[in-house]
Amino acid sequence: MKQRILYIEDNEQNLYLITFIMETAGYQVVQARSGEEGIALAGGQAPDLILLDIQLPGMDGYEIARRLRENQALAKVPIVAVTSYAMVGDREKALGAGCDGYIEKPINPDTFLAQVECFLGAAPSGGGQA
Ligand code: MN
Repeated sequence: MKQRILYIEDNEQNLYLITFIMETAGYQVVQARSGEEGIALAGGQAPDLILLDIQLPGMDGYEIARRLRENQALAKVPIVAVTSYAMVGDREKALGAGCDGYIEKPINPDTFLAQVECFLGAAPSGGGQA
């Protein structure tokens, strides 16, 4: 069974690029364009990992991460912030909100997959991959 990635992002170019990278590598990608949509999908889709933009209309990524972490069913699902906020302290803010890691935009298409898979490999539930 394909591992499922939930990607919460409002920028169409990023949605296209990251979805392409992950699907090419054999993952299923579920897209959400707002926090509300992402939280609803996360509850029903049982994703293996969540990629989370921080700068979104309405609810920002920090708030989304906090709300996702309130769902016990998602407690072990890695949440990785993907954001152009590259200021000192933003990494800590993302981790403090419940994210497991942080990938900076613009992403590097040559290394993005490996960066994401670091978090999948660390997931306690595992995906059957060595
Ligand atoms: Mn955005």
